[in-house]
Amino acid sequence: MRLLLLFGALLGHIYCLQTFVGDQVLEITPRNQEQIKNLAELEAEEHLQLDFWKSPTTPKETAHVRVPFVSLQAVKVFLEAQGIDYSVMIRDVQALLDKENEDMLLNQRRERSGSFNFGAYHTFEEISQEMDAIVAEHPDLVSKVNIGSSFENRPMNVLKFSTGGDKPAIWLDAGIHAREWVTQATALWTANKIATDYGTDPFITSLLDKMDIFLLPVTNPDGYVFSQTKNRMWRKTRSKVPGSFCVGVDPNRNWDAGFAGPGASNNPCSDSYHGPSANSEPEVRSIVDFIKSHGKIKAFITIHSYSQLLMYPYGYKCTKSDSFDELNEVAQRAAQSVASLHGTSYRVGPICSVIYQASGGSIDWAYDSGIKYSFAFELRDTGRYGFLLPASQILPTASETWLGLKTIMEHVRDHPY
Ligand SMILES: [Zn+2]
Repeated sequence: MRLLLLFGALLGHIYCLQTFVGDQVLEITPRNQEQIKNLAELEAEEHLQLDFWKSPTTPKETAHVRVPFVSLQAVKVFLEAQGIDYSVMIRDVQALLDKENEDMLLNQRRERSGSFNFGAYHTFEEISQEMDAIVAEHPDLVSKVNIGSSFENRPMNVLKFSTGGDKPAIWLDAGIHAREWVTQATALWTANKIATDYGTDPFITSLLDKMDIFLLPVTNPDGYVFSQTKNRMWRKTRSKVPGSFCVGVDPNRNWDAGFAGPGASNNPCSDSYHGPSANSEPEVRSIVDFIKSHGKIKAFITIHSYSQLLMYPYGYKCTKSDSFDELNEVAQRAAQSVASLHGTSYRVGPICSVIYQASGGSIDWAYDSGIKYSFAFELRDTGRYGFLLPASQILPTASETWLGLKTIMEHVRDHPY
C-alpha cells in the first residue's frame, strides 16, 4: 500500500496536476503539552503525508492540518483515541481548487477583452507582463531591476520606485512561499497603487521624495509556477537536493540567521528543510547580494500568508532584540491601521513568541545585517480558507495591508538612521 501510494504521488508529481479529492483540512485543538507531543508524533509519520498548514504550538491554540483522503480514517481514529478535539475546517480541498481554477480561467477570458484585474490570481507570466506594463505606464517613476535568476532560471525582477538617484530604500517582497497566493497578488496591487498614486497621494509623494522602494512580487518563481501547474500545496523552492529523492528547500529557513537551528528541518523531504547551507538557494542569495551591494536599505518587509500576524525579530532565538520597544510600537500601530478598514484583526509580536522558534528566516537576517525596521506580515485569513483564500478577498486584503505598510513606511521615513 505504501509503495503504491508513493508511486501514485510520484506519478502525480511528474505527469499531471496533483489532485486533492477528498482531502480535508482539520482544525485541531490540543488541550495540553501532552497532546501537542502526540501531534508532533503524528506529524513525524511520513507515510500519512500530513501537511501542517499551522503547527500546534501552545495548548488551546488551534493547529490546521491537511489530511490526504487515504489517511483520514487513521488520523481521526488517532485523534479520538488520544481524546484530542478536532473539527473539519475544509471538507474537500479539491472542491476549493476546482473553484479557484475555474475563476482563473474565467478571468483570463475576461482580461483578453478588457484590462488587468488586480482582484484575480495570475500566472507568473501574467504577473511579469503586468510589471512591464506598470513600468511602461510610469517610466519616470518605475523601473525593472533584475537581481538574479531562480534555480530553474526564471528572472527575479524587482520593481524600483524612485524619483531619481539611489536614495535610502525600503525593501518589500512577497511569495517566498509558493502557495501563499494572496501575497503575490497583494504585492502586484501594491505596485500599481504606488505607481498611480505618486503625485496625488501626499504620503506616497513625500515618501518617494526621500526614499526609494524596491518590490519583489514573486520571490520564489519556480515554486509559484509549480504550485499552479503541478501541486497547489507547494511551498519550497524547486532546487535539486544532492543525495535526496525529494525536491526543494524552504527558502525562509535558508537565510544566514541561526541557520539550521530550531524550527528548521534537516530532512530534505520536509516542508521546512533548511537546505544544504545558508544561502544555498539562488532566490535567497540574489536578494542577499542585492541588499548588501545596495548598502542603504533601511526597512525589510516580507509578506506571507496566512494567520493575520505582524511580526518582527527574532525567530531564531527567543530573546528580545535591541529595538524591541520601537518595533513593537510601530507594529501595534500598523496592526491598528490594518484593522481600521475592514476590522481584520492581527496579532503582533516577535516571531518566536507569536508563532514558534524558527531559524534561518529573512527578517532575522535583515535585522542582524543592520536593517532595523524588519517586519513579516502574515495576511488573511485565520483558517477558514487558509492558503486557498478566494480571489474575491484579494482586493480587501491588499487595501487593508496597504494601510499597515503605510504606517510602517511613514515611521521609517520620519526616523532616518
Ligand atoms: Zn510563508
